[in-house]
Amino acid sequence: MLTTVAAFDRIGEENAFAVLARATALAASGRDIINLGIGQPDFRTPEHIVDAAVKALRDGAHGYTPSTGILPLREAVARDLLHRYQVEVDPDLVMIMPGGKMTMYAAIRLFGEPGAEILYPDPGFPIYRSMIEHTGATAVPVPIREADGFAFSAAETLARITPRTRLLIINSPANPTGGVTPPQEIDALVAGLAAHPQVALLSDEIYDHFLFDGATHRTLLAYPDIRDRLILLNGWSKTYAMTGWRLGYSVWPRPLFDQVRKLAVNAWSCVNAPTQYAGIAALEGPQDAVAAMVAEFDARRRLVVEALNALPGVSCTTPKGAFYAFPNITGTGWTSAKALASALLEEAGVALIGGPDFGVHGEGYLRLSYAASRDSIATAMERIGAFLARRAAA
Ligand code: PLP
Repeated sequence: MLTTVAAFDRIGEENAFAVLARATALAASGRDIINLGIGQPDFRTPEHIVDAAVKALRDGAHGYTPSTGILPLREAVARDLLHRYQVEVDPDLVMIMPGGKMTMYAAIRLFGEPGAEILYPDPGFPIYRSMIEHTGATAVPVPIREADGFAFSAAETLARITPRTRLLIINSPANPTGGVTPPQEIDALVAGLAAHPQVALLSDEIYDHFLFDGATHRTLLAYPDIRDRLILLNGWSKTYAMTGWRLGYSVWPRPLFDQVRKLAVNAWSCVNAPTQYAGIAALEGPQDAVAAMVAEFDARRRLVVEALNALPGVSCTTPKGAFYAFPNITGTGWTSAKALASALLEEAGVALIGGPDFGVHGEGYLRLSYAASRDSIATAMERIGAFLARRAAA
């Protein structure tokens, strides 16, 4: 009998991957499945980015790079942040990571241990809680409420801080709700944090390009008072349709940077070299593909929200960011959102995710990712409507 460490009894999952596997298996067996489950753009990486990676390979970028990432890429990240947010970031504090998730992993590993408390949004990206529990720390959910337009509440967040709180995770624009937290709420949070200097902050801003209806995103980098305890998570996966490349970045406070660098040396050495060159091309090249993708998501968002609100028993707050809708299904008579999600996949051929996969406060909701064509979305909505009507009649 092999004995593994208890930490692995406490590691969770991202159910979107399980739903993707089931949807793929059903499709392989001949079923017509529309996938609104997985959180990745259904677009190709823009061609000039692919070309940059191919060129790097041809030019011989085959070896290790510095663990922190190649300097031109770290400088490109700093320039991008200056250009988009007018914030100065020292390239020496930019760490190139193998995807956005690895920043989460590093930040939570740095602060999580038995006795520590880490606050995270619920509903929220499932890996936050999973990783917190893996480290033995106590995962403290901060409820994210539909009544607040799925923005986080500074007051509710601050009220949960105790002397044991080490790390606070926030995410806007948010997965799974599409909520965008308004600048004044972020101001209030930062002001309140002055009373809790022991609390570090992980701000997951991976959806910061996906904003609609004039919503604005205030990066946490814009607050000089917390820069010495702020970890910023961002990356290329969503913005440049590069989920499979595994490329992300983070900005760290100076005292933590060397610890993360050492984690990289121990765990992954560096991000693969050609991908880093692709990352430069993405940031420095034309941005029209990003604008076109966001415009298409906006059109789909309107379609999805309108169609969802026309379904009996369903109501959907209009998301202002990311590419998710988070409809409330409590009026349908279904008391388990996961059971409804599973029935929709098996019986109606529509893959989506039950809200509880994002935390206990997700019960009563479904998450739809609108990473599918408008035609597919329209068909999916018809199927969901017909399914609900069939079940209501039964
Ligand atoms: N953060 C949030 C909120 C996400 O939704 C995701 C991916 O779905 C990530 C981070 C991870 O991104 P990556 O694929 O770059 O690891």
